Amino acid sequence: MSTHFDLCIIGGGIIGAGIAQAAAINGLSTIIVEKRGWGAGNSSKSSKIIDGDFEGIPHLRLSNVRECLRERRIIRDIAPNLQKVDWFYLPIYKQSSQKSWQIALQLRIYDALAGSDNLASSRRLPEERWRKLYGLNQHDLSAVYAFQEIHIDDAQLAQNVLRSAKQHGAMALCPVNFEGAQLSDDGYVVSVAKGSRNRDFDCRFLVNATGAWCDRVSRSIEGVKNPLPTRSIKSTHIEFREHLSDNSFYVEGKKGSNRIAILPWRGGTLVGSVDTMFSGNPERVTPSTEEVDYLVGITRHHFPHFQYEPFDAWSGLRLSSTKQKAIFPRRSKSLNDTDKRYLCVRESQFASYRAIAERVVISVMRTLSEKSAPPPETHYICSSSIRI
Ligand SMILES: Cc1cc2nc3c(=O)[nH]c(=O)nc-3n(C[C@H](O)[C@H](O)[C@H](O)COP(=O)(O)OP(=O)(O)OC[C@H]3O[C@@H](n4cnc5c(N)ncnc54)[C@H](O)[C@@H]3O)c2cc1C
Repeated sequence: MSTHFDLCIIGGGIIGAGIAQAAAINGLSTIIVEKRGWGAGNSSKSSKIIDGDFEGIPHLRLSNVRECLRERRIIRDIAPNLQKVDWFYLPIYKQSSQKSWQIALQLRIYDALAGSDNLASSRRLPEERWRKLYGLNQHDLSAVYAFQEIHIDDAQLAQNVLRSAKQHGAMALCPVNFEGAQLSDDGYVVSVAKGSRNRDFDCRFLVNATGAWCDRVSRSIEGVKNPLPTRSIKSTHIEFREHLSDNSFYVEGKKGSNRIAILPWRGGTLVGSVDTMFSGNPERVTPSTEEVDYLVGITRHHFPHFQYEPFDAWSGLRLSSTKQKAIFPRRSKSLNDTDKRYLCVRESQFASYRAIAERVVISVMRTLSEKSAPPPETHYICSSSIRI
């Protein structure tokens, strides 16, 4: 094995895999290390939806919405075997927090930002259609809107992107734990361990793509001063063996909380998520009884005939900066040269993994290239036409 790399990536979730793929395509000698399994972290615990961040519209996160919608269209083209385009139904009741006209306006903006070459435009269902939506609580129902999103197998997406990175020359080590990194004349000496065996190698640039683990990991990297504290949100889903509907629904949760997705998944039904702040050990994230009861209650309220018990419940972590503010890359006037060889990715949304990877790799290329070289933006090779 080579012991000198341009780039070392810690963490083999969708973000690390995407960065490895983009770096390898662009000719950087790349190594990625993952301690559990490719996509086995939070990249296998999502709602399995490539969405355009519809919820971002009332909060005016329009540039994020635009980016997610653009990425959704690209993923539709490059990962046809991993996904299913589906209609999502959004019921509006008399007591819903948002009125029918508000949803209609938001969907119109969503369609406009998506552009004409994206998924089908949204629509308001005629009453005779929604009256026939099997099992949906019709009491005080005043309208149902429908729009398209993509269902995807999240862990499989991460594994396929990683496979593509390897095909383009990246070295991938798993299960291998990142133990720490020491400064060197030209970057870092990285220490990893597999069981009781330790190994060191050199890299010119280090990327921390460990998501919910990023603060813990950054503490073992020499020269990283005052890492930004990361707040995580624990998101819980429940799964039923029973099939509720062929359609997907976004229903309102309790006041001020996220919409809850109710989706057909692996022959049964997936419901989630309910979010709470989390500050413990990312290895120990488990659903509480209250969270499970809450999701069961929301499901039964909207589908009164569906009186089953969930057979499974699981929680994942997402960084609380997601969809709010991209605190990336970490740059400030106080950073020294060392910090310029290290980057901690604090954006996380698997729908945007390619766009995040592009920003990271351009930043790495800019740092590593000669001053006289043309700016990396001018010769960056994009992954948007590479099938995964
Ligand atoms: C419940 C939930 C629902 C979500 N729903 C959606 C959705 O519908 N659509 C969407 O776009 N996004 C969604 N997200 C966001 C998205 O799924 C995640 O933000 C994304 O998968 C995170 O990817 P990641 O690569 O940053 O982190 P992870 O997948 O968690 O990867 C980090 C990896 O780092 C590894 N690691 C940690 N420490 C070390 C070490 N010392 N050495 C080696 N490896 C290490 C871990 O094992 C892990 O595999 C959701 C998130 C959650 C939690």
